[in-house]
Amino acid sequence: MNAQNPNLHTADAYQDLVTAARFQSTRRVPIPDLTYPDGVRIAVNFTLDFDAMLLRRLLNEPWGQKAKGEFGGRIGIWRILDMFEANDVKVTLFTPGRIGELYPKALHRAVAAGHELADHMWEHDVPKDPAIEEAHLNRAVATLSQIAGKPITGTRSSHTPAQLRACGITYNSFTSANTTPFYELDEQGANPLLQLPFHYALDDAMFFSFGWLATPNAAQRILDVDEVFEIWWASFLQQYKKGGYLNFLLHPFVSGHAMRVDMLERLIQRMKTLPGVWFPTCGAVADHIFANHPFKPVQE
Ligand SMILES: [Zn+2]
Repeated sequence: MNAQNPNLHTADAYQDLVTAARFQSTRRVPIPDLTYPDGVRIAVNFTLDFDAMLLRRLLNEPWGQKAKGEFGGRIGIWRILDMFEANDVKVTLFTPGRIGELYPKALHRAVAAGHELADHMWEHDVPKDPAIEEAHLNRAVATLSQIAGKPITGTRSSHTPAQLRACGITYNSFTSANTTPFYELDEQGANPLLQLPFHYALDDAMFFSFGWLATPNAAQRILDVDEVFEIWWASFLQQYKKGGYLNFLLHPFVSGHAMRVDMLERLIQRMKTLPGVWFPTCGAVADHIFANHPFKPVQE
């Protein structure tokens, strides 16, 4: 019997689990014959969650944590963009709209270098009140589209799919429910969005983020960069052999430190020694999939 939840193994609970699993499988529509452009064996999306100090503020973390976030906005982001540019890799910046007010120069520089801006909520939070949620989403999308000079089409958020579709968002990158791209319907079976899944094993914060002891942030993780290099290289090779997909989730305040930028550069350069590795933005992967594998409802 489970110590926290004594009802976990009852017949009712088991039936609930089966029902939920069946429901989720109707919402998540795989793309079994996924192909890439000619000559491409794997798509590797590097994504930057440009949170800076916003989530740290929201969680009311100590000043030292907020300063770490600020480092990401003022220094880390520039170093990472320099590295991606030097290696001719295009990335997607999932950006809270508020960052457009805090660090606009970094965003303009990313756009000028050909990177993609995508939504990551207004202040790293999805309000529960639908009217406030809509106001936040519209404000974030408008701010980022203005800086991008064109409408943005992606998000990394739990915003309501109907609201996302209403403001022109066509893809999300906010789940680990599969390893390759798939279509996801909302709970009513409507408003399909393309999902570009990430995995926590490819999230820098899982290896390099820490909080001070006795603070609400319990994370205590500072791994050797070479160890993370080996984990990420092994993840890449496994997907490369299958002709799969990878979505790395990086935070400028975490990965913007010099030794980590250097590790990422070594990783990219090693990936480039193999043929058929594509480093597009998430939007470019989405455009390719919409053109070649449009959404088809599942036949009952
Ligand atoms: Zn974030």
